[in-house]
Amino acid sequence: MTDISQELIARVRQASHDGTSLQIMGGGSKQFMGREPIGDPISLSEHKGIISYEPIELVLTARAGTPISEINSALAEHNQCLAFEPPTFNGQATLGGTLACHLSGPARPWSGSIRDHVLGIRLINGHAEELRFGGQVMKNVAGYDVSRMQAGAMGTLGIITEVSLKVMPKPAATVTIKQEMDAAKAIETMNRLSGQSKPLTGACWFDNHLYLRLAGARSAVDSTVNQWQGAALEDTDAFWSTLREQQLDYFLDASSLWRFSVKSSAAHVLPDEDWLFDWGGAQRWLRGDFTADKLEALAETAGGQVSLYRGGDRSQEVFHTQSEALQKLHQRLKHAFDPNGVFNPNRLYSWM
Ligand SMILES: Cc1cc2nc3c(=O)[nH]c(=O)nc-3n(C[C@H](O)[C@H](O)[C@H](O)COP(=O)(O)OP(=O)(O)OC[C@H]3O[C@@H](n4cnc5c(N)ncnc54)[C@H](O)[C@@H]3O)c2cc1C
Repeated sequence: MTDISQELIARVRQASHDGTSLQIMGGGSKQFMGREPIGDPISLSEHKGIISYEPIELVLTARAGTPISEINSALAEHNQCLAFEPPTFNGQATLGGTLACHLSGPARPWSGSIRDHVLGIRLINGHAEELRFGGQVMKNVAGYDVSRMQAGAMGTLGIITEVSLKVMPKPAATVTIKQEMDAAKAIETMNRLSGQSKPLTGACWFDNHLYLRLAGARSAVDSTVNQWQGAALEDTDAFWSTLREQQLDYFLDASSLWRFSVKSSAAHVLPDEDWLFDWGGAQRWLRGDFTADKLEALAETAGGQVSLYRGGDRSQEVFHTQSEALQKLHQRLKHAFDPNGVFNPNRLYSWM
């Protein structure tokens, strides 16, 4: 339990005064994401500790440098969990980095993302002011939601120092069934089954197999398993945790990795390439060397966006091209929070 916010504020004040930039570091687990990091590293790893946890109220507040694995352990003692299932990346992932990168696990379409579970934050802006946004309770204040805006901003708007989150009870029973089918059939099946009122909490396809996770009351899980059929996995938690941690063989390959965030029902494209589908078809991973232009056109036709998640040339843009109107909006937000460009310059886009 250490609070180093005064040191962080002093570093920001100095950097703003000197006209230098800072590279915000959590556990460094996601250094591969976004464009090449630049600036003097400023580490949040010492700024950690759970500040409050009310199991009855289902809310937890922790310093941004707290490892996700530590939060998971505290919640497990009360049979609770983070419903958006963030990767822990060998215990390195921190709460602040997880919010900044907006990474969510397999349950995302059913349980929401971290953005949907954030109640409030503390943030140090480019004026070296530590501000509080939102609250620490479910009944949140109205207004422009700065907490949610941090999801995906990759630290370009300031240093998140504290996060309050909704947490959830763990499901009573979980079973995963596996069915053999090709990609096109898997997309059709995942969308059809997602439309049924069944306890589906995960749907992933790769290597010619569809994996469906059912979680909730034992009777609802068992009756759905009987109805949908398929081979039940022996260790269901191990499978979804390996997927969430990106430790399946698919992710260990050295090729560039592209991430599509699209309509779950979008048609399968480039059928001869190497794909893995998660989120019931809404998140699609593609391995290999491609030009961004070609993939962006495909993603737009599929109703979404694509980014170069890992590998490739990170001196170029890695996130989907934004329209001129959105670029202006992003730049205005950046200027309002960080007028001197102290935080993570160019990490998200070359123009920010
Ligand atoms: C079930 C489901 C259905 C969907 N259906 C549709 C659909 O019909 N149409 C559609 O268009 N999309 C759809 N999507 C995709 C999704 O809604 C959009 O891509 C959304 O904008 C964010 O996606 P994400 O949660 O994966 O965020 P991310 O992948 O984290 O972010 C998406 C992009 O926005 C950027 N970004 C996020 N926050 C900021 C910020 N604060 N400042 C600057 N840049 C930022 C990120 O850098 C990234 O490039 C769907 C997704 C799901 C899970």
